[in-house]
Amino acid sequence: MKARVKRLSSALQPEPSLRAALEKLELGRVPDVAALLDAIYSLAVQDQPVVLLAGGTDFLLSQPPETLSDWATRPPFVIDIAGMPELCGLRMVDGFLQLGTGVTFEQIAAAELVGSHAPLLSAAARGFDSQIAPRATLGGNVAKRAAHADGLAVLGALDAELVLTGRDGPRSLSVEQFLNSDERVETALDELIDRIDLPLPIDFDGGTRVNYWRKVVDARGWISKVALAASATKVGGELVRCGLAMASVGPRTALMTRTRELFLSTPLARIRTQAIEKAVDADIAPLTDAVSTSVYRAHVARALVVQFHQQALVA
Ligand SMILES: Cc1cc2nc3c(=O)[nH]c(=O)nc-3n(C[C@H](O)[C@H](O)[C@H](O)COP(=O)(O)OP(=O)(O)OC[C@H]3O[C@@H](n4cnc5c(N)ncnc54)[C@H](O)[C@@H]3O)c2cc1C
Repeated sequence: MKARVKRLSSALQPEPSLRAALEKLELGRVPDVAALLDAIYSLAVQDQPVVLLAGGTDFLLSQPPETLSDWATRPPFVIDIAGMPELCGLRMVDGFLQLGTGVTFEQIAAAELVGSHAPLLSAAARGFDSQIAPRATLGGNVAKRAAHADGLAVLGALDAELVLTGRDGPRSLSVEQFLNSDERVETALDELIDRIDLPLPIDFDGGTRVNYWRKVVDARGWISKVALAASATKVGGELVRCGLAMASVGPRTALMTRTRELFLSTPLARIRTQAIEKAVDADIAPLTDAVSTSVYRAHVARALVVQFHQQALVA
């Protein structure tokens, strides 16, 4: 499928420059990211509401009532980027697994390349509902920076780099920088997240990889109450690499800095459960909402990290 633009407002008469930008996105043509950004900017400059849709599984369900009533009087341009070839690549380049952000979780779950180089991401992708997975994209999962985003938690544990492209060209951000960066990316009007780069773990002599993914879900079985992604390398009785990130234990993905420090600074057999719980408590700020309570989330968060520790001990 190609990127398409749908003019929903019959009253709208695009300016010539806007029309020129939109023509590049005509149904059936394959635009590049530059053409897409041109159209987005032209629409924004002329103060036209614009919506960028990938799978639409998040966007269509998460609009506040005021936005929907605004659209009733002033319908937006909808630019559909699902299946855009430039965003759908999956390849190994110079020690990085590169994932286009248009890749769906169904494709991620099925990809051997992901299974062999980033099994944690495969495991998280397999946890998506089977009706949602064929549409839900990695980019859509990341862009909103939602606390419950499974993909973003895994990318945090794997120390991924996000490649964003805007008018000034591409730039790379770590997950931490992305989580702390300007909110405007969320609207996708200023920059497109076009690629995720996953560094492959360095092989240590006699090293053992420890991967852990666990999601404790709500009654419907998909929104996490708490999820933990952990990826580590053990040499002897110590971790020499440790990525940890949790979903749904704060307003955004928690990158678990104190807990990582604990695991990297102390031999596994000497780490006490109380020390783990203390570090986890310092890393999370769980909320009470319709899905769970802060007390339950904190309890589960501690238990999952203790379980990861036990798995690492016997690995
Ligand atoms: C029934 C159901 C089950 C779900 N299960 C899960 C689950 O198990 N785990 C989970 O984490 N989430 C889940 N979700 C949430 C959602 O499906 C995912 O977050 C999904 O990955 C969103 O991707 P999308 O392509 O549908 O995003 P869209 O809805 O198309 O887009 C979401 C937002 O991201 C922006 N965007 C999309 N792509 C880009 C890009 N490349 N660059 C910049 N901005 C972009 C859009 O403009 C929009 O603002 C579920 C949702 C539903 C309805």
